[in-house]
Amino acid sequence: MKMFNEKLRKLYSPEVERIGFILGDDEIIELENVSTDPALTFVFDPDEFDKYADSATASWHTHTHADANLSFEDYQFFLSWPKLRHFIISSQAVWSYEVTNGSVVVLHET
Ligand SMILES: [Zn+2]
Repeated sequence: MKMFNEKLRKLYSPEVERIGFILGDDEIIELENVSTDPALTFVFDPDEFDKYADSATASWHTHTHADANLSFEDYQFFLSWPKLRHFIISSQAVWSYEVTNGSVVVLHET
């Protein structure tokens, strides 16, 4: 898990939010952030999203700052994909979230 978090940590960018999925064998794939304001938000390309969402075990996205806390949009997104774990990568930390009994809980703070 520690090695895996190190890999995730390397995805951090101070300029844009990077996004993607994690597949079953811990394979990290990156997709294009098509948001019009990618420094502060992320939007998946719908076709790419559909291609991976069902087979993925987790989503990941980066924040452009030190805070790995979820935004309101993150919260809504996580809730709409309760089967996935969700990672947020900041300059300081990698936090993972899970949906349990209809609410989003933070699992790990590293
Ligand atoms: Zn976020």
